[in-house]
Amino acid sequence: MTTKSSEFFQRSKYTIPGGVNSPVRAFKSVGSNPLFISHGKGSHITDIDDKTYIDYVGSWGPLILGHAYPPVIQALEEQLHKGISFGAPTTLECELTEQVRKMMPSIDMLRLVNSGTEATMSAIRLARAYTNKDTIIKFAGCYHGHAESFLVQAGSGVMTLGLPDSPGVPKDFTKHTLVAPYNDIEAVRSLLENNQDKVAAIIIEPIAGNMGMILPKPNFLQQLRSLCDQHGCLLIFDEVMTGFRVSPGGASELFHVDPDLITLGKVIGGGLPVGAYGGREDIMSLIAPLGNVYQAGTLSGNPLATTAGLTTLKILSQPQTFSQLTQKTTWIVNELKDLFEKASVPHQVNMAGAMFGFFLGVDSVYDFTTASKLNKDLFTNLFHALLQEGVYIAPSPFEALFMSLSHTDEDLEHTKQAFAKALPIALDAIHKSS
Ligand SMILES: *Cc1c(COP(=O)(O)O)cnc(C)c1O
Repeated sequence: MTTKSSEFFQRSKYTIPGGVNSPVRAFKSVGSNPLFISHGKGSHITDIDDKTYIDYVGSWGPLILGHAYPPVIQALEEQLHKGISFGAPTTLECELTEQVRKMMPSIDMLRLVNSGTEATMSAIRLARAYTNKDTIIKFAGCYHGHAESFLVQAGSGVMTLGLPDSPGVPKDFTKHTLVAPYNDIEAVRSLLENNQDKVAAIIIEPIAGNMGMILPKPNFLQQLRSLCDQHGCLLIFDEVMTGFRVSPGGASELFHVDPDLITLGKVIGGGLPVGAYGGREDIMSLIAPLGNVYQAGTLSGNPLATTAGLTTLKILSQPQTFSQLTQKTTWIVNELKDLFEKASVPHQVNMAGAMFGFFLGVDSVYDFTTASKLNKDLFTNLFHALLQEGVYIAPSPFEALFMSLSHTDEDLEHTKQAFAKALPIALDAIHKSS
Protein backbone atom coordinates (compact mmCIF):
# COMPACT_ATOMS: atom_id res chain seq x y z
CA MET A 1 0.00 0.00 0.00
CA THR A 2 1.39 3.41 -0.87
CA THR A 3 1.19 5.88 1.91
CA LYS A 4 2.75 9.31 2.19
CA SER A 5 5.12 7.78 4.73
CA SER A 6 6.30 5.11 2.32
CA GLU A 7 6.74 7.71 -0.44
CA PHE A 8 8.83 9.91 1.82
CA PHE A 9 10.82 6.91 3.00
CA GLN A 10 11.74 6.10 -0.61
CA ARG A 11 12.62 9.72 -1.21
CA SER A 12 14.72 9.99 1.97
CA LYS A 13 16.74 6.95 0.99
CA TYR A 14 18.38 9.00 -1.77
CA THR A 15 19.86 11.50 0.63
CA ILE A 16 20.01 9.74 4.01
CA PRO A 17 21.65 6.31 4.47
CA GLY A 18 18.75 3.90 4.91
CA GLY A 19 16.38 6.86 4.92
CA VAL A 20 16.83 7.48 8.65
CA ASN A 21 19.16 9.34 10.98
CA SER A 22 19.28 6.56 13.60
CA PRO A 23 19.10 2.89 12.57
CA VAL A 24 16.27 1.36 14.63
CA ARG A 25 13.89 4.03 13.30
CA ALA A 26 13.91 2.28 9.92
CA PHE A 27 11.45 -0.49 11.07
CA LYS A 28 13.83 -2.98 9.43
CA SER A 29 13.49 -5.52 12.24
CA VAL A 30 9.70 -5.54 11.92
CA GLY A 31 9.92 -5.78 8.14
CA SER A 32 8.06 -2.64 7.14
CA ASN A 33 8.43 1.08 6.51
CA PRO A 34 8.66 3.70 9.22
CA LEU A 35 5.89 6.17 9.87
CA PHE A 36 6.80 9.77 9.19
CA ILE A 37 5.44 11.83 12.04
CA SER A 38 3.81 15.16 11.38
CA HIS A 39 2.98 16.25 14.92
CA GLY A 40 2.50 15.17 18.50
CA LYS A 41 0.27 16.37 21.31
CA GLY A 42 0.26 14.92 24.80
CA SER A 43 0.34 11.13 24.57
CA HIS A 44 -0.49 11.08 20.85
CA ILE A 45 1.48 11.30 17.64
CA THR A 46 0.02 11.76 14.17
CA ASP A 47 1.73 10.58 11.00
CA ILE A 48 1.72 12.34 7.64
CA ASP A 49 -1.11 10.05 6.49
CA ASP A 50 -3.22 11.54 9.28
CA LYS A 51 -3.30 8.46 11.46
CA THR A 52 -3.04 9.06 15.20
CA TYR A 53 -1.40 6.70 17.67
CA ILE A 54 -0.96 6.47 21.43
CA ASP A 55 2.79 6.81 21.72
CA TYR A 56 4.95 4.67 24.01
CA VAL A 57 8.22 5.68 22.36
CA GLY A 58 8.27 9.29 23.51
CA SER A 59 11.17 10.12 21.21
CA TRP A 60 12.98 7.09 22.73
CA GLY A 61 12.66 8.36 26.27
CA PRO A 62 13.07 12.14 26.57
CA LEU A 63 9.39 13.12 26.43
CA ILE A 64 8.36 12.01 29.90
CA LEU A 65 5.83 14.83 30.14
CA GLY A 66 4.34 14.12 26.72
CA HIS A 67 4.49 15.87 23.35
CA ALA A 68 4.25 19.67 23.21
CA TYR A 69 3.71 19.84 26.95
CA PRO A 70 2.38 23.39 27.51
CA PRO A 71 4.80 24.61 30.24
CA VAL A 72 7.78 23.37 28.21
CA ILE A 73 6.51 24.97 25.01
CA GLN A 74 5.82 28.23 26.80
CA ALA A 75 9.28 28.34 28.35
CA LEU A 76 10.84 27.57 24.97
CA GLU A 77 8.81 30.28 23.24
CA GLU A 78 9.96 32.85 25.77
CA GLN A 79 13.57 31.77 25.40
CA LEU A 80 13.39 31.74 21.58
CA HIS A 81 12.88 35.47 21.54
CA LYS A 82 15.83 36.07 23.84
CA GLY A 83 18.29 34.15 21.72
CA ILE A 84 19.10 30.60 20.76
CA SER A 85 22.78 30.30 21.55
CA PHE A 86 25.60 32.50 22.75
CA GLY A 87 28.52 30.19 23.45
CA ALA A 88 28.91 32.12 26.69
CA PRO A 89 27.72 31.19 30.19
CA THR A 90 24.04 31.71 30.99
CA THR A 91 22.12 31.55 34.27
CA LEU A 92 20.12 28.68 32.78
CA GLU A 93 23.10 26.33 32.87
CA CYS A 94 23.72 27.21 36.50
CA GLU A 95 20.06 26.56 37.34
CA LEU A 96 19.87 23.28 35.41
CA THR A 97 23.00 21.86 37.02
CA GLU A 98 21.79 22.93 40.48
CA GLN A 99 18.48 21.24 39.79
CA VAL A 100 20.22 18.00 38.76
CA ARG A 101 22.38 18.08 41.87
CA LYS A 102 19.28 18.48 44.02
CA MET A 103 17.68 15.44 42.40
CA MET A 104 20.84 13.31 42.31
CA PRO A 105 22.79 13.87 45.53
CA SER A 106 25.76 11.71 44.48
CA ILE A 107 26.56 14.33 41.84
CA ASP A 108 28.70 17.18 43.18
CA MET A 109 29.52 18.70 39.81
CA LEU A 110 28.42 18.07 36.26
CA ARG A 111 29.26 19.10 32.73
CA LEU A 112 26.57 19.59 30.09
CA VAL A 113 27.06 18.10 26.62
CA ASN A 114 24.74 17.50 23.66
CA SER A 115 23.94 13.79 23.68
CA GLY A 116 24.18 10.63 25.71
CA THR A 117 26.96 9.43 23.45
CA GLU A 118 29.06 12.46 24.29
CA ALA A 119 28.33 12.01 27.99
CA THR A 120 29.52 8.39 28.19
CA MET A 121 32.47 9.00 25.90
CA SER A 122 33.62 11.89 28.08
CA ALA A 123 32.97 10.02 31.33
CA ILE A 124 35.23 7.19 30.21
CA ARG A 125 37.99 9.59 29.22
CA LEU A 126 37.71 11.16 32.66
CA ALA A 127 37.72 7.80 34.46
CA ARG A 128 40.84 6.77 32.54
CA ALA A 129 42.56 10.02 33.43
CA TYR A 130 41.58 9.82 37.09
CA THR A 131 42.69 6.21 37.58
CA ASN A 132 45.54 6.33 35.10
CA LYS A 133 44.31 2.99 33.68
CA ASP A 134 42.90 2.11 30.25
CA THR A 135 40.60 -0.88 30.52
CA ILE A 136 36.85 -0.64 31.01
CA ILE A 137 34.30 -3.31 31.80
CA LYS A 138 30.87 -3.16 30.22
CA PHE A 139 27.99 -5.61 30.10
CA ALA A 140 26.74 -7.54 27.10
CA GLY A 141 23.57 -5.96 25.76
CA CYS A 142 24.14 -2.60 27.45
CA TYR A 143 24.24 0.38 25.09
CA HIS A 144 26.31 3.40 25.96
CA GLY A 145 26.10 5.39 22.75
CA HIS A 146 28.15 4.86 19.65
CA ALA A 147 31.67 5.83 20.75
CA GLU A 148 34.36 3.34 19.74
CA SER A 149 35.05 1.83 23.17
CA PHE A 150 31.42 0.85 23.64
CA LEU A 151 30.60 -0.83 20.35
CA VAL A 152 31.17 -4.27 21.77
CA GLN A 153 28.04 -6.37 22.34
CA ALA A 154 26.09 -3.17 22.47
CA GLY A 155 22.36 -3.82 22.73
CA SER A 156 19.27 -2.90 20.76
CA GLY A 157 20.42 -1.14 17.59
CA VAL A 158 23.24 -3.57 17.07
CA MET A 159 21.19 -6.48 18.37
CA THR A 160 18.16 -5.66 16.26
CA LEU A 161 20.21 -5.51 13.11
CA GLY A 162 22.28 -8.53 14.07
CA LEU A 163 25.62 -6.78 13.63
CA PRO A 164 28.16 -8.26 16.06
CA ASP A 165 30.41 -5.20 16.25
CA SER A 166 30.89 -2.28 13.95
CA PRO A 167 33.41 -2.13 11.12
CA GLY A 168 35.47 1.00 11.45
CA VAL A 169 36.21 0.44 15.10
CA PRO A 170 39.92 -0.41 15.51
CA LYS A 171 40.66 -3.54 17.54
CA ASP A 172 43.21 -1.39 19.33
CA PHE A 173 40.29 0.50 20.85
CA THR A 174 38.07 -2.40 21.81
CA LYS A 175 40.92 -4.43 23.26
CA HIS A 176 40.53 -2.12 26.25
CA THR A 177 36.87 -3.09 26.62
CA LEU A 178 36.04 -6.22 28.60
CA VAL A 179 32.53 -7.62 28.53
CA ALA A 180 30.65 -9.45 31.29
CA PRO A 181 27.14 -10.91 31.23
CA TYR A 182 24.59 -8.61 32.89
CA ASN A 183 23.72 -9.65 36.44
CA ASP A 184 26.74 -11.96 36.69
CA ILE A 185 28.84 -10.72 39.63
CA GLU A 186 31.23 -13.67 39.52
CA ALA A 187 32.13 -12.87 35.91
CA VAL A 188 32.94 -9.30 36.93
CA ARG A 189 35.00 -10.50 39.87
CA SER A 190 37.11 -12.75 37.71
CA LEU A 191 37.60 -10.08 35.02
CA LEU A 192 38.90 -7.78 37.75
CA GLU A 193 41.12 -10.45 39.26
CA ASN A 194 42.58 -11.36 35.88
CA ASN A 195 43.23 -7.72 35.02
CA GLN A 196 44.68 -6.42 38.27
CA ASP A 197 45.51 -2.70 38.17
CA LYS A 198 44.28 -2.31 34.61
CA VAL A 199 40.59 -1.49 35.01
CA ALA A 200 39.67 2.21 35.06
CA ALA A 201 35.92 1.79 35.34
CA ILE A 202 32.91 -0.43 35.24
CA ILE A 203 30.10 1.14 33.24
CA ILE A 204 26.57 -0.19 33.45
CA GLU A 205 22.97 0.66 32.73
CA PRO A 206 21.75 0.20 36.33
CA ILE A 207 18.47 -0.90 34.81
CA ALA A 208 19.11 -2.22 31.33
CA GLY A 209 16.87 -0.70 28.67
CA ASN A 210 18.63 -1.48 25.43
CA MET A 211 18.18 -5.26 25.33
CA GLY A 212 14.58 -4.96 26.37
CA MET A 213 14.10 -3.83 29.95
CA ILE A 214 16.01 -5.92 32.49
CA LEU A 215 16.24 -5.20 36.20
CA PRO A 216 19.42 -5.79 38.18
CA LYS A 217 19.28 -8.78 40.54
CA PRO A 218 18.93 -7.89 44.23
CA ASN A 219 22.26 -6.54 45.51
CA PHE A 220 23.97 -6.80 42.12
CA LEU A 221 24.65 -3.05 41.98
CA GLN A 222 25.79 -2.98 45.63
CA GLN A 223 28.19 -5.83 44.87
CA LEU A 224 29.55 -3.91 41.88
CA ARG A 225 30.07 -0.95 44.19
CA SER A 226 32.18 -3.00 46.61
CA LEU A 227 34.17 -4.68 43.82
CA CYS A 228 35.02 -1.24 42.43
CA ASP A 229 36.16 -0.09 45.87
CA GLN A 230 38.29 -3.21 46.35
CA HIS A 231 39.96 -2.84 42.97
CA GLY A 232 40.34 0.93 42.85
CA CYS A 233 38.19 1.43 39.78
CA LEU A 234 35.30 3.79 39.25
CA LEU A 235 31.66 2.80 39.05
CA ILE A 236 29.81 4.63 36.28
CA PHE A 237 26.05 4.43 36.08
CA ASP A 238 24.89 5.19 32.59
CA GLU A 239 21.55 6.75 33.47
CA VAL A 240 20.96 8.28 30.05
CA MET A 241 17.73 6.29 29.92
CA THR A 242 16.93 5.73 33.60
CA GLY A 243 17.81 9.21 34.92
CA PHE A 244 14.64 11.13 35.94
CA ARG A 245 12.72 8.23 34.36
CA VAL A 246 12.62 5.38 36.88
CA SER A 247 12.44 7.81 39.82
CA PRO A 248 13.26 11.52 40.24
CA GLY A 249 16.82 10.59 41.21
CA GLY A 250 17.17 7.75 38.71
CA ALA A 251 18.27 4.20 39.41
CA SER A 252 20.95 5.21 41.90
CA GLU A 253 18.22 6.63 44.12
CA LEU A 254 15.99 3.61 43.55
CA PHE A 255 18.68 1.11 44.57
CA HIS A 256 20.53 3.31 47.09
CA VAL A 257 23.87 2.90 45.37
CA ASP A 258 26.17 5.87 44.84
CA PRO A 259 28.24 5.56 41.68
CA ASP A 260 31.37 7.68 41.20
CA LEU A 261 30.09 9.09 37.94
CA ILE A 262 26.66 9.28 36.33
CA THR A 263 25.94 9.90 32.67
CA LEU A 264 22.68 11.54 31.67
CA GLY A 265 20.78 12.27 28.49
CA LYS A 266 17.24 11.89 27.13
CA VAL A 267 14.92 13.32 29.87
CA ILE A 268 17.51 15.91 30.99
CA GLY A 269 16.94 17.73 27.69
CA GLY A 270 13.14 17.49 27.74
CA GLY A 271 13.20 16.61 24.02
CA LEU A 272 16.05 18.89 22.98
CA PRO A 273 19.61 17.61 22.59
CA VAL A 274 21.29 17.54 26.02
CA GLY A 275 23.54 15.09 27.79
CA ALA A 276 25.56 15.42 30.96
CA TYR A 277 28.14 13.65 33.03
CA GLY A 278 28.76 14.30 36.65
CA GLY A 279 29.85 12.91 39.96
CA ARG A 280 32.39 13.31 42.72
CA GLU A 281 34.08 16.67 42.90
CA ASP A 282 37.62 15.28 43.09
CA ILE A 283 37.02 13.43 39.80
CA MET A 284 35.11 16.20 38.01
CA SER A 285 37.82 18.70 38.96
CA LEU A 286 40.12 17.10 36.42
CA ILE A 287 38.04 18.50 33.56
CA ALA A 288 39.37 21.54 31.66
CA PRO A 289 39.59 24.41 32.43
CA LEU A 290 39.85 23.32 36.08
CA GLY A 291 42.07 20.37 35.19
CA ASN A 292 43.60 19.14 31.97
CA VAL A 293 41.17 16.45 30.74
CA TYR A 294 39.91 18.08 27.57
CA GLN A 295 36.25 18.16 26.61
CA ALA A 296 34.34 20.97 24.92
CA GLY A 297 31.24 21.76 22.83
CA THR A 298 30.12 24.69 20.68
CA LEU A 299 26.44 24.28 21.55
CA SER A 300 26.87 22.69 25.00
CA GLY A 301 24.48 24.17 27.54
CA ASN A 302 22.69 26.21 24.91
CA PRO A 303 19.73 28.22 26.23
CA LEU A 304 16.98 26.39 24.36
CA ALA A 305 18.06 22.91 25.40
CA THR A 306 18.69 23.95 29.00
CA THR A 307 15.28 25.65 29.14
CA ALA A 308 13.47 22.51 28.00
CA GLY A 309 15.49 20.40 30.43
CA LEU A 310 15.10 22.70 33.41
CA THR A 311 11.34 23.07 32.92
CA THR A 312 10.98 19.29 32.63
CA LEU A 313 13.08 18.49 35.71
CA LYS A 314 11.23 21.03 37.85
CA ILE A 315 7.95 19.36 37.02
CA LEU A 316 9.43 15.91 37.67
CA SER A 317 10.67 16.95 41.09
CA GLN A 318 7.15 17.73 42.28
CA PRO A 319 6.15 14.73 44.40
CA GLN A 320 2.82 14.07 42.69
CA THR A 321 4.43 13.76 39.24
CA PHE A 322 6.20 10.50 39.91
CA SER A 323 3.37 8.98 41.88
CA GLN A 324 1.11 9.62 38.89
CA LEU A 325 3.64 8.23 36.44
CA THR A 326 4.24 5.11 38.52
CA GLN A 327 0.52 4.56 38.97
CA LYS A 328 -0.08 4.66 35.21
CA THR A 329 2.79 2.28 34.50
CA THR A 330 1.75 -0.14 37.24
CA TRP A 331 -1.77 -0.27 35.88
CA ILE A 332 -0.82 -1.12 32.31
CA VAL A 333 1.89 -3.56 33.40
CA ASN A 334 -0.60 -5.50 35.52
CA GLU A 335 -3.07 -5.60 32.65
CA LEU A 336 -0.38 -6.89 30.28
CA LYS A 337 0.73 -9.60 32.70
CA ASP A 338 -2.86 -10.67 33.08
CA LEU A 339 -3.40 -10.78 29.34
CA PHE A 340 -0.24 -12.80 28.62
CA GLU A 341 -1.04 -15.14 31.50
CA LYS A 342 -4.57 -15.84 30.26
CA ALA A 343 -3.30 -16.45 26.73
CA SER A 344 -0.70 -18.89 28.15
CA VAL A 345 2.14 -16.99 26.50
CA PRO A 346 5.44 -17.31 28.37
CA HIS A 347 6.38 -13.79 29.36
CA GLN A 348 8.30 -11.48 31.59
CA VAL A 349 7.05 -7.94 32.19
CA ASN A 350 9.25 -5.43 34.01
CA MET A 351 8.76 -1.88 35.18
CA ALA A 352 10.31 0.92 37.22
CA GLY A 353 8.74 4.37 37.48
CA ALA A 354 7.76 5.49 33.99
CA MET A 355 9.67 2.76 32.14
CA PHE A 356 8.40 -0.72 31.30
CA GLY A 357 8.98 -3.59 28.96
CA PHE A 358 7.85 -7.08 28.06
CA PHE A 359 9.48 -10.21 26.71
CA LEU A 360 7.28 -12.81 25.01
CA GLY A 361 8.15 -16.45 24.49
CA VAL A 362 10.54 -16.51 27.45
CA ASP A 363 9.83 -16.36 31.14
CA SER A 364 13.15 -15.75 32.80
CA VAL A 365 15.20 -12.91 31.37
CA TYR A 366 18.19 -11.55 33.27
CA ASP A 367 20.87 -10.94 30.64
CA PHE A 368 21.61 -10.63 26.93
CA THR A 369 21.60 -14.39 26.26
CA THR A 370 18.25 -15.00 27.94
CA ALA A 371 16.78 -11.89 26.26
CA SER A 372 17.89 -13.13 22.84
CA LYS A 373 15.64 -16.20 23.21
CA LEU A 374 12.46 -14.14 22.99
CA ASN A 375 9.98 -14.86 20.20
CA LYS A 376 10.84 -12.27 17.53
CA ASP A 377 8.09 -13.30 15.12
CA LEU A 378 5.47 -13.00 17.80
CA PHE A 379 6.73 -9.52 18.63
CA THR A 380 6.71 -8.47 14.97
CA ASN A 381 3.13 -9.65 14.52
CA LEU A 382 2.07 -7.98 17.72
CA PHE A 383 3.79 -4.75 16.75
CA HIS A 384 1.86 -4.54 13.46
CA ALA A 385 -1.44 -5.52 15.03
CA LEU A 386 -0.94 -2.83 17.69
CA LEU A 387 -0.31 -0.21 15.01
CA GLN A 388 -3.62 -1.22 13.43
CA GLU A 389 -5.22 -0.58 16.81
CA GLY A 390 -3.61 2.83 17.12
CA VAL A 391 -0.82 1.97 19.56
CA TYR A 392 2.78 2.86 18.70
CA ILE A 393 5.60 1.02 20.47
CA ALA A 394 9.25 0.84 19.44
CA PRO A 395 9.78 -1.30 16.32
CA SER A 396 12.03 -3.78 18.10
CA PRO A 397 11.51 -6.33 20.88
CA PHE A 398 14.76 -5.12 22.47
CA GLU A 399 13.48 -1.65 23.39
CA ALA A 400 11.77 -0.39 26.52
CA LEU A 401 8.38 1.33 26.55
CA PHE A 402 7.95 4.78 28.03
CA MET A 403 4.98 6.20 29.93
CA SER A 404 4.36 9.93 29.94
CA LEU A 405 2.50 12.22 32.29
CA SER A 406 0.13 12.99 29.42
CA HIS A 407 -1.17 9.42 29.08
CA THR A 408 -4.79 9.52 30.25
CA ASP A 409 -6.91 6.78 31.79
CA GLU A 410 -8.68 6.61 28.47
CA ASP A 411 -5.36 6.07 26.67
CA LEU A 412 -4.47 3.28 29.05
CA GLU A 413 -7.82 1.60 28.66
CA HIS A 414 -7.48 1.88 24.87
CA THR A 415 -3.99 0.38 25.10
CA LYS A 416 -5.26 -2.55 27.13
CA GLN A 417 -8.03 -3.21 24.58
CA ALA A 418 -5.54 -2.86 21.73
CA PHE A 419 -3.23 -5.49 23.25
CA ALA A 420 -6.21 -7.75 23.92
CA LYS A 421 -7.20 -7.58 20.24
CA ALA A 422 -3.65 -7.67 18.87
CA LEU A 423 -2.31 -10.63 20.84
CA PRO A 424 -4.69 -13.29 19.41
CA ILE A 425 -4.05 -11.92 15.90
CA ALA A 426 -0.30 -12.14 16.48
CA LEU A 427 -0.54 -15.68 17.87
CA ASP A 428 -2.80 -16.77 15.02
CA ALA A 429 -0.36 -15.50 12.41
CA ILE A 430 2.42 -17.54 14.08
CA HIS A 431 0.36 -20.74 14.04
CA LYS A 432 -0.56 -20.25 10.39
CA SER A 433 3.04 -19.73 9.32
CA SER A 434 4.37 -22.73 11.26
C1 LIG B 1 20.21 6.45 24.45
C2 LIG B 1 21.32 5.98 25.28
C3 LIG B 1 22.64 6.45 25.07
C4 LIG B 1 23.01 7.32 23.92
O1 LIG B 1 22.42 8.57 23.97
P1 LIG B 1 22.31 9.45 22.61
O2 LIG B 1 21.71 10.73 23.07
O3 LIG B 1 21.45 8.67 21.69
O4 LIG B 1 23.69 9.60 22.10
C5 LIG B 1 23.60 6.06 25.97
N1 LIG B 1 23.31 5.25 27.00
C6 LIG B 1 22.07 4.78 27.22
C7 LIG B 1 21.81 3.91 28.40
C8 LIG B 1 21.04 5.11 26.36
O5 LIG B 1 19.81 4.61 26.56
